[in-house]
Amino acid sequence: MRKKYILSKLSLSRLVGLHVELESVVKRAIEITEQDFVVVEGVRTKEQCYINYGKGRTAEQCKAKGVPAQYAQPKVAKVTWLNNPLSSRHVTGHAVDLVPYPVDWNDLNKFKKISVAMKQAAKDLGVALDWGGDWRSSKDYPHFELKG
Ligand SMILES: [Zn+2]
Repeated sequence: MRKKYILSKLSLSRLVGLHVELESVVKRAIEITEQDFVVVEGVRTKEQCYINYGKGRTAEQCKAKGVPAQYAQPKVAKVTWLNNPLSSRHVTGHAVDLVPYPVDWNDLNKFKKISVAMKQAAKDLGVALDWGGDWRSSKDYPHFELKG
C-alpha cells in the first residue's frame, strides 16, 4: 500500500497568503503523491526579492532597477536573472516551490514524481497549472505556478 503523507507545520505556514487555488492543489497533491515533499517557498516579500536581486550585483546595478543600494552583494553568486526584480509570480502568491522530503535537490526523478501529483491534483480541481520543469529554457524543477 502506498505511504500517506501530510504537510508539516512548516510547510503549512509557507502556504499562508498563497492564491487559494494553488493552496488547494498543494493540499490535494500531498494526499496522492508517491514522493513526500516540503514547501520551501510560497509568497515572496518585496524584501526577499531585493535580497535575491542584490546577490551578484553592484549598488549601481541595483539602483538602476529600483532596488535600494544596501542590498548589493557583488561578491556573492547571482541567484536571479529576472528583468524586473519584483516580477516573480511568488510576489503575488501565484507560485510555490516544492522539494522532495527528505530534502534532495539533485534527484530529478523525485521532482518528477512531485510534478505528477501536482498535475493530477490540478486536474482534479480544474486548476490550470504550469511546472517549471516543463519550461524549455532555464528549468525550475521545484517551481509551480498558476497559469495566466
Ligand atoms: Zn519558484
